[in-house]
Amino acid sequence: MSIDQGKALIARAGEGKSYTVGVETLTLADWPEGVPIRVAHSALNYKDALAITGRAPIIRNFPMVLGIDLAGEVLEDSGRFKAGERVLVNGWGLSETRWGAYSQLVRMPDEIVQPLPAGFSTEQAMQIGTAGYTAMLCVMALDDHGLQPGRDAVLVTGASGGVGSVAVSLLARRGYHVIAVSGRPEQAGFLQELGAAEVLSRDAISSGGRPMAKERWAGVVDVAGGPMLADAIAQTRYDGIVAACGMAGGGSLATTVYPFILRGVTLRGVDSVMVPMARREAAWARLEAELDRGLLARLSSTRQFDELPTLGADLLDGRLHGRIAIAL
Ligand code: NDP
Repeated sequence: MSIDQGKALIARAGEGKSYTVGVETLTLADWPEGVPIRVAHSALNYKDALAITGRAPIIRNFPMVLGIDLAGEVLEDSGRFKAGERVLVNGWGLSETRWGAYSQLVRMPDEIVQPLPAGFSTEQAMQIGTAGYTAMLCVMALDDHGLQPGRDAVLVTGASGGVGSVAVSLLARRGYHVIAVSGRPEQAGFLQELGAAEVLSRDAISSGGRPMAKERWAGVVDVAGGPMLADAIAQTRYDGIVAACGMAGGGSLATTVYPFILRGVTLRGVDSVMVPMARREAAWARLEAELDRGLLARLSSTRQFDELPTLGADLLDGRLHGRIAIAL
């Protein structure tokens, strides 16, 4: 394919609420105004998997280029950026309201593009991707609350997934006692390698439906939502914090006010999509400084663009673990 055109994964509206996803060719002229970027790597996140498979309504308008994360090189001087500069984009409505990342050539609005930290290759940045950067936002929420590495225990749910595996490795490296919860017993060795001090089954953190139970941890990084989030809150220590970022186990939350008014527990929501640029840059700078590159390699794999149509179902059905970068 010539330098002027590239392949892209595009969703087109079908009958009713259905849509089809397929590979098409796009040129830069097809894109709205913005910084022209040759995408080197993207990522596969939970939200990408939902969009590819159509299992949840992620896409708000059609046609839509899928993919929420990209890292690549600026093709010509544009706005704040110079030709050749390495950049990344995470979230900002990509693949929802705005054309996204699964395209070899893109244009992105200047204000959502940020420089790629010098210490990462485009592949490493996308091995981290939105999931890894969200894990760091959760760690920052725990730090802001005053949790103490070396003293405090932190529970991580969905530990073998993308957010969870990066959270386990970041928290362990900071010196927290990490309790990893996984529904996949065969991942226990992997989670211990990432630094988990304890690996528990999902059943082992059940509070038996009680809104308050014995205090077990000072902090939580929760990707599950649903019953597991209620269990996590119920066993959070006095003045502890629960950073809730996901809904892999459901979008409901059945609890009472008691953990909040009797134990002073804080429930902190974590969003990655619309985070202001200054906090994003702070999160990426901390990833650059703190993320163990050996562990990043250990918890990641890189797959090819052409595999994307089948990878969505693989992720949602539990056939993948850790982080998945996509080579374009
Ligand atoms: P992954 O699919 O990689 O990981 C999710 C993990 O959750 C699975 O690996 C599994 O881990 C666990 N899980 C799956 N089903 C259930 C269940 N029914 N109950 C409890 N745990 C379950 O996804 P990501 O890590 O990319 O994303 C995780 C969640 O975080 C998603 O809901 C995603 O939408 C959300 N998210 C939110 C962001 C934000 O901005 N707020 C940004 C990024 C992600 P195991 O098998 O080890 O138990």
